[in-house]
Amino acid sequence: MDYPLINPDDDKDIRPEVSVFKADLLSNPTPIEDRFTKFSTWDSLVSALSILRHVSASYRGSIDCTSWHLCNKTKCESALKDTEDFILRCVQAQAFRGELEAIKGKCDLPKDSRIQHLSPYIDNVGLLRIGGRLNNLKSTGLASLNPVIVPRGHVATLLVRFFHNKVFHQGRTITEGAVRSHGFWILGGKRLISSIIYACVVCRKLRRRPQEQKMADLPVDRLTPGPPFSSVGLDVFGPWPVLTRKTRGGSAQSKRWAVLVTCLTTRAVHIEVIEDMSSSCFINALRRFVALHGPVKLIRSDKGTNFIGAVNDLHVNAINVEDNEVQTYLKNNRATWLFNAPHASHMGGVWERAIGSARRILDSMLLQEVPKELTHEVLVTLMAEVCAILNSRPITALDADPSSPMVLSPNILLTQKQGEIGTFSDHLSIKDMYSASWKHVQVLSDMF
Ligand SMILES: [Zn+2]
Repeated sequence: MDYPLINPDDDKDIRPEVSVFKADLLSNPTPIEDRFTKFSTWDSLVSALSILRHVSASYRGSIDCTSWHLCNKTKCESALKDTEDFILRCVQAQAFRGELEAIKGKCDLPKDSRIQHLSPYIDNVGLLRIGGRLNNLKSTGLASLNPVIVPRGHVATLLVRFFHNKVFHQGRTITEGAVRSHGFWILGGKRLISSIIYACVVCRKLRRRPQEQKMADLPVDRLTPGPPFSSVGLDVFGPWPVLTRKTRGGSAQSKRWAVLVTCLTTRAVHIEVIEDMSSSCFINALRRFVALHGPVKLIRSDKGTNFIGAVNDLHVNAINVEDNEVQTYLKNNRATWLFNAPHASHMGGVWERAIGSARRILDSMLLQEVPKELTHEVLVTLMAEVCAILNSRPITALDADPSSPMVLSPNILLTQKQGEIGTFSDHLSIKDMYSASWKHVQVLSDMF
């Protein structure tokens, strides 16, 4: 059987597909004021609309010049002024429809009108201006006598930003003065100007107070009451040049460093002088410290080049905590060494602050007391005295209450002796010590 092919155009069963597009622009046109929101500056809005009006006028044939750029300056300026008036007329027509109709019809303004108290009138270019009582001064031509009323909205915002930039980001009064003196009366202008200045990036850079960092919670070992030097923070500082006399071979090593150990609970400080930045010297210093102050459970430090590995290959003087020697010593003494995150010296504020104080005291001592050359013995003595001064510092805010004149210092918590540096005074009872320690813990969380 034959099935002849039918041309689709001749097939009556296939219905042609017809699409109809209808552009409905006139029945509900977008108000031109809404299109102003596409512009972020007053300048760009005025120049874009000027060009648009120019092109439109040239198509209509009402002007002979077809190129905007070929217009002479006076013409451009007058065109820009016309465009500004046009923009303001547009926003006024949307915001003050009732008022404009009332004024044109010589009726009273609507009772709920926002501009009733401004006694507005329409000028010769169709702009709504403030009437005021100085109309006899019109001949002076001052625009600020009868300013144009600008409703709050995008155009008002652009105007405020424009004049705010013109006065180089000065405050509200100067910006508002610039707006007024150029003949604009913005409804609710003060609030609008304040909000724009508040959000202005340049003004924030210039005048805003820097924001403060919120401090994190203190670690548990800073807040747990316990015997002094159970949990410590540790760092090394120095070096100082020291005069070393040797019979043969000259002076091989003439530098000294100091290991500062600070108790995380009582904030007491102990300083050991070391002859070399090496693991063995460091272990010796740690052993001297433990012999004096008892075993340490937790050691915290920053992860600086003083303490971590890979420095041996660089031939840098360093204590390698990851060395077997140090690790074995820590293990035998049941001590844990915790590193802070690398490059986060702000996390070790406890010992960084103590080191800063120790440096200042030492600088003062070296300036006043030491003759020409510093020797190892003098340095050790000075460090002991630095410790004494640091440990006698108040660790709480000094109370203005005359009934509690006692100054709580790490020395009191360490020795239970109250008094001046190096002098013996009253013996504190254990009860006093614990209440002082507990007060210290409470105040610490406020202070640090
Ligand atoms: Zn600004």
